[in-house]
Amino acid sequence: MIYLDNNATTAIDPQVADVIAAEFQRGPANPSSQHAIGRSSSDRLDDAILRIGACLGSDLSLPGGARLITTSGGTESNNLALAGLAAADSPLIVSSIEHASVIAFAQQAKKQGRPVHVLPVTPNGVVRLDALQQTLDSLDADQAVVSVMSANNETGVVQPIAEVAEICRQAGALLHVDATQSIGKLPATVNEIPAAAITITPHKFHGPAGVGALWIDAGIKLRPLLFGGEQQLVSRPGTEPVALILGMAKALEMAVEKLSAVCQRMVSQRDQFEATLRRECAGLLIHGENEKRLPGTSCVSFAGTDRQSMLMALDFAGVACSSGSACSSGSSPPSHVLLAMGCPDWAVESAIRFSLSRFSTDDEMADATDRICRVYNRLRS
Ligand code: PLP
Repeated sequence: MIYLDNNATTAIDPQVADVIAAEFQRGPANPSSQHAIGRSSSDRLDDAILRIGACLGSDLSLPGGARLITTSGGTESNNLALAGLAAADSPLIVSSIEHASVIAFAQQAKKQGRPVHVLPVTPNGVVRLDALQQTLDSLDADQAVVSVMSANNETGVVQPIAEVAEICRQAGALLHVDATQSIGKLPATVNEIPAAAITITPHKFHGPAGVGALWIDAGIKLRPLLFGGEQQLVSRPGTEPVALILGMAKALEMAVEKLSAVCQRMVSQRDQFEATLRRECAGLLIHGENEKRLPGTSCVSFAGTDRQSMLMALDFAGVACSSGSACSSGSSPPSHVLLAMGCPDWAVESAIRFSLSRFSTDDEMADATDRICRVYNRLRS
């Protein structure tokens, strides 16, 4: 089986797995315990948090400075940011191509009376800055929270975060960026992402699932989503999963260290993949092709097929990929991202996402490309 579904999740790096296993093997340790075992665990936790901050270009040791809240993953970090950055009745502005954890939060908040605005995107899947500006102009922007992802998980299209941040800054709105898909694929420090809050999800960069983080800028208040203990200064109570957080730190360090080499290789693999598909298969549409995209993401519509049959045939042929929208139910509803881009029905119906990782090899890519072309040409005929 060739795994081309890395935007859904990645293989854990063996070095990360070793770090996690070593921590689990140390024996029981709750970082909130006052005894020596607890204190030592707390020291390891603090060290991991500082290292994560260093990877993001943010010194987390400064009193009153930026901080990092650890969570159970990207979904919780996104929910925490949207719920916690401002009052429950403050305007919330999200783009129409955000992950379900943002879109569904916004829909729920709207039902509860929060003013919610959804930003359109261009046909290439880029959030429309004019719409953001107009929306902020029409609001009491001082209270507003804006959420725009750094890069889309389905098309890989990179969003103009610097411009979004500048518009928010001028309007006095708080920006949250879901950086889940950029880390390890694009530079993603607080310089590239000048936001009030940033979501991080290590299972997308060869770290563990079940853990994540929300980076919060200095001076930004955050209301908790959960109530319970005093951990993380009550911003996110609950015993911290120290082993997973150490794994997150290690995975992030490796992602940052390998970034430029990995990025170059994935761009060339992806370009080669798309060039061969174009040569061997008629009737393809590659979404966001002319925009800046994540290096290893290719979202392709295959005319004359439907995504479910294509997915099943590819699965049978030994290629693991996904339909345009990653889904938790095992079914594949039409992609809200492609719909927001105004794609024609045939393209929405036949979209498949291929996503690479730093473990994808040239041989594997050549083999996968061959299998995909054969499957498509057979289904089409
Ligand atoms: N945000 C984006 C852009 C994602 O792609 C995902 C996962 O697919 C998430 C958030 C949710 O992350 P998690 O699976 O860690 O909850």
